[in-house]
Amino acid sequence: MAFITGIRKNGKEWTPKFIFELSKESCIACGRCFKACAYACLALEEYEDDDGEKTYMSIVDDGACIGCEACAKACPKSCFTHAPVEA
Ligand code: SF4
Ligand code: SF4
Repeated sequence: MAFITGIRKNGKEWTPKFIFELSKESCIACGRCFKACAYACLALEEYEDDDGEKTYMSIVDDGACIGCEACAKACPKSCFTHAPVEA
Protein backbone atom coordinates (compact mmCIF):
# COMPACT_ATOMS: atom_id res chain seq x y z
CA MET A 1 0.00 0.00 0.00
CA ALA A 2 1.41 3.40 -1.02
CA PHE A 3 0.81 6.51 1.06
CA ILE A 4 0.99 10.20 0.23
CA THR A 5 4.56 11.29 0.91
CA GLY A 6 6.38 14.61 1.13
CA ILE A 7 9.95 15.67 0.46
CA ARG A 8 12.15 17.18 3.20
CA LYS A 9 14.58 20.05 2.62
CA ASN A 10 17.35 17.46 2.41
CA GLY A 11 15.48 15.67 -0.38
CA LYS A 12 14.48 12.66 1.73
CA GLU A 13 10.90 11.36 1.75
CA TRP A 14 8.60 11.43 4.75
CA THR A 15 5.05 10.14 5.28
CA PRO A 16 2.69 12.78 6.70
CA LYS A 17 0.07 11.64 9.23
CA PHE A 18 -3.07 13.60 8.47
CA ILE A 19 -5.76 14.58 10.95
CA PHE A 20 -8.67 12.11 11.14
CA GLU A 21 -10.51 12.57 14.43
CA LEU A 22 -10.70 14.90 17.40
CA SER A 23 -12.40 13.66 20.56
CA LYS A 24 -14.79 16.33 21.74
CA GLU A 25 -15.40 14.31 24.92
CA SER A 26 -11.71 14.71 25.90
CA CYS A 27 -11.28 18.30 24.67
CA ILE A 28 -11.02 21.05 27.29
CA ALA A 29 -11.11 23.84 24.65
CA CYS A 30 -7.70 25.18 25.67
CA GLY A 31 -6.95 26.37 22.12
CA ARG A 32 -3.36 25.08 22.00
CA CYS A 33 -3.97 23.05 18.86
CA PHE A 34 -5.61 26.02 17.15
CA LYS A 35 -2.49 28.12 17.77
CA ALA A 36 -0.23 25.31 16.56
CA CYS A 37 -2.01 24.76 13.23
CA ALA A 38 -0.80 27.06 10.46
CA TYR A 39 -3.38 25.79 7.96
CA ALA A 40 -6.73 26.83 9.50
CA CYS A 41 -7.92 23.23 9.90
CA LEU A 42 -9.42 23.78 13.37
CA ALA A 43 -11.96 26.05 15.06
CA LEU A 44 -13.84 26.22 18.36
CA GLU A 45 -17.49 25.16 18.22
CA GLU A 46 -20.30 24.82 20.74
CA TYR A 47 -22.62 21.92 21.41
CA GLU A 48 -25.17 20.92 24.01
CA ASP A 49 -25.42 17.72 26.01
CA ASP A 50 -27.27 16.72 29.17
CA ASP A 51 -24.96 18.93 31.27
CA GLY A 52 -25.63 22.03 29.16
CA GLU A 53 -23.69 24.01 26.57
CA LYS A 54 -20.03 23.13 25.99
CA THR A 55 -17.22 24.35 23.77
CA TYR A 56 -14.80 22.05 21.99
CA MET A 57 -12.29 22.17 19.16
CA SER A 58 -13.58 20.93 15.85
CA ILE A 59 -11.97 19.90 12.54
CA VAL A 60 -13.33 22.42 10.04
CA ASP A 61 -11.06 21.79 7.03
CA ASP A 62 -9.29 18.43 7.09
CA GLY A 63 -8.51 18.81 3.39
CA ALA A 64 -6.10 21.64 4.21
CA CYS A 65 -4.10 19.45 6.63
CA ILE A 66 -0.47 18.81 5.69
CA GLY A 67 -0.03 16.03 8.27
CA CYS A 68 2.54 17.81 10.44
CA GLU A 69 0.97 16.59 13.75
CA ALA A 70 1.71 19.92 15.46
CA CYS A 71 -1.85 19.95 16.81
CA ALA A 72 -1.44 16.54 18.46
CA LYS A 73 1.90 17.51 20.00
CA ALA A 74 0.34 20.66 21.48
CA CYS A 75 -2.71 18.88 22.92
CA PRO A 76 -2.53 18.04 26.65
CA LYS A 77 -5.48 15.63 26.45
CA SER A 78 -4.47 13.35 23.55
CA CYS A 79 -7.60 14.26 21.61
CA PHE A 80 -6.26 13.65 18.12
CA THR A 81 -6.10 10.66 15.80
CA HIS A 82 -3.73 10.93 12.83
CA ALA A 83 -2.91 8.51 10.05
CA PRO A 84 -1.23 8.36 6.64
CA VAL A 85 -3.47 8.58 3.58
CA GLU A 86 -3.34 6.21 0.62
CA ALA A 87 -1.93 7.83 -2.50
S1 SF4 B 1 -1.57 17.94 11.42
FE1 SF4 B 1 -0.70 20.03 11.15
S2 SF4 B 1 -1.83 20.90 9.41
FE2 SF4 B 1 -3.00 19.10 10.13
S3 SF4 B 1 -4.51 19.93 11.55
FE3 SF4 B 1 -2.72 19.33 12.77
S4 SF4 B 1 -1.45 21.17 12.94
FE4 SF4 B 1 -2.94 21.51 11.27
S1 SF4 C 1 -5.24 21.20 22.40
FE1 SF4 C 1 -6.53 19.38 22.77
S2 SF4 C 1 -7.71 19.91 24.60
FE2 SF4 C 1 -6.86 21.84 23.78
S3 SF4 C 1 -8.48 22.65 22.40
FE3 SF4 C 1 -7.10 21.40 21.13
S4 SF4 C 1 -8.06 19.37 21.12
FE4 SF4 C 1 -8.96 20.49 22.81
